Amino acid sequence: MYDVFKVRQDFPALAQEVNDEPLIYLDNAATTQKPKQVIAKIDEYYQFDNANVHRGVHTLAERATRQYEEARAKVQHLLNAQSTKEIIFTRGATTSLNWIARGFGEKFLQAGDEIILSLMEHHANIVPWQQLAQKVGAKLRYVAITSDGYLDLQDLTTKINDKTKIIALAHVSNVLGTENPIAEITKLAHKHGAIMVVDGAQAVPHMPVDVQALDCDFYVFSGHKMCAPTGIGVLYAKEEHLQAMDPVEFGGEMIDFVYQDKSTWTELPWKFEAGTPNIAGGIALGAAIDYLNQLGFTNIHQHEQELVDYVLPKLLAIDGITVYGPHRPTDHTGVISFNLADVHPHDLATALDMEGIAIRAGHHCAQPLMRHYDVPSMARASFYLYNTKEEADRFVDTLIKVREYFKDGFI
Ligand code: PMP
Repeated sequence: MYDVFKVRQDFPALAQEVNDEPLIYLDNAATTQKPKQVIAKIDEYYQFDNANVHRGVHTLAERATRQYEEARAKVQHLLNAQSTKEIIFTRGATTSLNWIARGFGEKFLQAGDEIILSLMEHHANIVPWQQLAQKVGAKLRYVAITSDGYLDLQDLTTKINDKTKIIALAHVSNVLGTENPIAEITKLAHKHGAIMVVDGAQAVPHMPVDVQALDCDFYVFSGHKMCAPTGIGVLYAKEEHLQAMDPVEFGGEMIDFVYQDKSTWTELPWKFEAGTPNIAGGIALGAAIDYLNQLGFTNIHQHEQELVDYVLPKLLAIDGITVYGPHRPTDHTGVISFNLADVHPHDLATALDMEGIAIRAGHHCAQPLMRHYDVPSMARASFYLYNTKEEADRFVDTLIKVREYFKDGFI
């Protein structure tokens, strides 16, 4: 039995008041709060185990290295990757996508090749591909979105062809909350000889993910959206790709032999990890994975689904609201973007903050999607494993109050 009130006790930040109201944190798609188990791990590392990894033979170096590499193994199991060679630590999803575009894309794409993205991508899964396309003379093609907020698979089949070399898509949209059918699309990609890159930033924190079942070639995510600190993330790839592609950063840690005029690279996964890594971040990501595993990803997913089942119909019932993305709760993850009549999303977010409720307003790093919907910005509430139905009620009630305020000019 998932006890959300017990879970909340693990998150010190949730116990505070903001503007004299109990904090309701609904900005989890941007970053999540951290449980005390993760905070304690960082504290413990710096108090007792701080040393550089891989190089030292002394006890502290051995402890730091062992914990850092154990964290890599935890990521391997989390994703069901075949080996730790396939798990590269990066700064986050953005860095991972840049490295794929540069290390793989620049080596293997040529003029005339095509890269398929979608209109619901985060800028992190657009801009690196634009840079690549400009460098090698490749063409970008964007899959459309259906009127109810799903990826238009029909459109995808018209855009994919034998010139398609890469398909790069979000597993879950950070705006629409839509989960894309990655396994199905990967099959299609492979039929055309294309590589499948998956941006899992909004998926890994919320549901079980199995890269072998998806059969994708690359999969990336960030630690800070799943209870770990900022500055640590993951680039997963099938080993054959990591063997074939070039490192993007060069220096210590990633070399085998260095001569005056040339060098050779060390083995996977360290071939990609130049310089001193974010050791505390890696170890804390391991602690976050332990924490989430102990709650159970299936339970987390079910809890969030129950919240969406509860709150989405209530939101849809508010007079003047537009909810973007699927309206069927079962097809909607815990990310819910909306606009409320002609209230500017920033005014909405500010008014909610006055009541202790943290949501986000803006373009959500998805300007092509904003253009598609013909809006400059949206408000977004994003739920996580510690949010409650009571919080959802207060959020909805406050929205209604704010709507009345802006309609009549007083509460
Ligand atoms: N992709 C998606 C879908 C995201 O939601 C985000 C974060 N908002 C990113 C990529 C980029 O993640 P980061 O900023 O942690 O690199």
